[in-house]
Amino acid sequence: MKIQNSRFIISAVKRDQYPEDLLPEIAMAGRSNVGKSSLINMLINRKGLAKTSSTPGKTQTINFYDLDGKMRLVDLPGYGYARVSKDKKSGWGKIIESYLVDRPNLMEVFLLVDLRHDPSEDDRLMYEWIRTFGYKGIVIATKADKIKNSQLQIRKKALREKLGMDPEDVLLITSADSRKGKYDVWDFINSLLEQ
Ligand code: GDP
Repeated sequence: MKIQNSRFIISAVKRDQYPEDLLPEIAMAGRSNVGKSSLINMLINRKGLAKTSSTPGKTQTINFYDLDGKMRLVDLPGYGYARVSKDKKSGWGKIIESYLVDRPNLMEVFLLVDLRHDPSEDDRLMYEWIRTFGYKGIVIATKADKIKNSQLQIRKKALREKLGMDPEDVLLITSADSRKGKYDVWDFINSLLEQ
């Protein structure tokens, strides 16, 4: 999909603030700073549309971005300050749960993890949680520019093992710096939209 016009729609914390029309949505989950906003900006070729972590006030909201009126990318609040296990019942967890639990136009949830590091306990819980809601949980390993090429296969294997992924579960590799993986992610999104 070639995106001509992308725009930020709304930062929401509760259901009645979500966009009403049921365009297909793809959501990004992950810890704060993993690169959710940077991935969104890479996908839509807009440097500053999704607010990156240095922007105050973005952390605890669900941010909706419209792409040509055809679909939306949805930036979920990051964890890290919130703990997935402990905070599922608190503000952070409630904000995410109320979105994941009943959003018929949500096609898939991407779980972003940092390619350099083993997934945290929170990443693993988030992956399980996403799957509990009935999504595959597509894993996107970010910041690929920060590792040597020789480390790539090793890191991919470690991530798969530590997250308990099956061979058919999808793991994509990206870098917002080098733009690696942009077309892999788009191919995947397009295949979801065609279903
Ligand atoms: P978010 O909190 O998950 O939305 O994370 P951001 O997109 O705001 O990124 C957090 C920080 O990591 C920022 O300083 C980004 O510039 C940096 N970052 C994000 N993606 C990449 C990447 O692929 N490569 C590198 N080198 N830095 C990245």
